[in-house]
Amino acid sequence: MVAAIATSYAGVQASLRDWNTPKTNMARARFTSPLAESIAPDLEERFLRYVRIDTQSRRERERSPSTPGQLELARMLVSELASFGLEDAALDENGYVTATLLGNGDRGRDGRERSATAAFGVLAHLDTSPDAPGAGVEPIVHRAYDGGVIELPREGTRLDPATMPELLEKVGHDLVTASGDTLLGADDKAGVAEIMSAVSYLAAHPEIERPTFRVAFTPDEEIGEGASLFDIERFGAGCAYTLDGSTLGELQDETFSAYEAIVTVTGVDVHPGQATGKLVNALRLAAQIVAGLPADTLTPETTSGRTGFIHPFSLTGTAGQARIRLIVRDFDEALLESHVELLREVAHRVVDAEPRARLDLDVRRQYRNMRQFLEDVPEVTAAAEEAIKAEGIDPIRVPIRGGTDGSRLSEMGLPTPNIFTGGHEYHSVREWASIQDMAAAAATVVRLAEVWARRGK
Ligand SMILES: [Zn+2]
Repeated sequence: MVAAIATSYAGVQASLRDWNTPKTNMARARFTSPLAESIAPDLEERFLRYVRIDTQSRRERERSPSTPGQLELARMLVSELASFGLEDAALDENGYVTATLLGNGDRGRDGRERSATAAFGVLAHLDTSPDAPGAGVEPIVHRAYDGGVIELPREGTRLDPATMPELLEKVGHDLVTASGDTLLGADDKAGVAEIMSAVSYLAAHPEIERPTFRVAFTPDEEIGEGASLFDIERFGAGCAYTLDGSTLGELQDETFSAYEAIVTVTGVDVHPGQATGKLVNALRLAAQIVAGLPADTLTPETTSGRTGFIHPFSLTGTAGQARIRLIVRDFDEALLESHVELLREVAHRVVDAEPRARLDLDVRRQYRNMRQFLEDVPEVTAAAEEAIKAEGIDPIRVPIRGGTDGSRLSEMGLPTPNIFTGGHEYHSVREWASIQDMAAAAATVVRLAEVWARRGK
């Protein structure tokens, strides 16, 4: 068996090598700037290396981080940061990586570094989504994408511009995908690699003006815990930016406000042979609750833009007890509360009609729309906008139909908008990223340092 596996693995390796060779004579797309172009080779090398480490987080978390793979990547990043000269690079007991890049004005006459407060921070998350396989990622680089259907070698996975129109904007780009049976993990290793390459570049180019700034990599963002054990005090920055967005130019200072709800219905379980007049089927009641929720509105599949939803995503149980897990989302706090109220009403209407059944509703706040916290500090988002423009990109301001570490961090007192990474189709086996757009994101981090250096004068 072992030999057979080894042979077929070698076969896959050979076929992957073929895939990595260019198949077209398409002209390679240009980078957004010479800076982005010069960062790109280092960035690509890092990204391809980081995505191979399985850092998928696990919803049933017993400790932080929830999985050991995140620590493996974290340790690698600490040693790489130290090799750039960031002497305080460290991994804390909960799996958070932090480091300081000192500003070029922050050295005394004797050449020794002075302690300095950080102008800002940049963050990305170590983990990948639990929603699709995350182990055994085999990245493939499709040089100078020709605009056609990309067929991946495994599981018949296809990236079709007919259903993924964003691909058509990337003709000529070097696209990275997985091999068809796993995530790529661009969410958020694109962000991790971009920050690492930008910091490496700045450390090697002291002639570029920069203030002291902080770097952090967080665990377990995908299970909503990325900010939970983040020590804002110790981080010591007045504001921060996550690199955890998608499309080139995106700058997000508005996220959903979010609740999670667990509805538990307890019935009366009796052997079906003796059930007459006695059995109360919890599973049927739970199904009625799901069926009683709006289906044509207030669902993720029927809404877009700023409209929220009630989304049941798991239904498990037996005749004796059944559990529905839901997420409730809106940009507006009052509307969010009204969606939760609607869920309560529907659940009570169904279960209260059966006096022998019991209803337990556990509604838990997840995060709040970051806009209410960022509105008071407009200079934070404005600096990112200036950096994106300096890279020659038109900033795109769209609200995120989701949350980021920045949602919780902003609420906890660290204003943290979100910047694009160049990755797409997150949380799926079709995930892809453009090297050109990733390089633009890394260059934007360099520009951000320049913007804050100017502001500090
Ligand atoms: Zn992410």
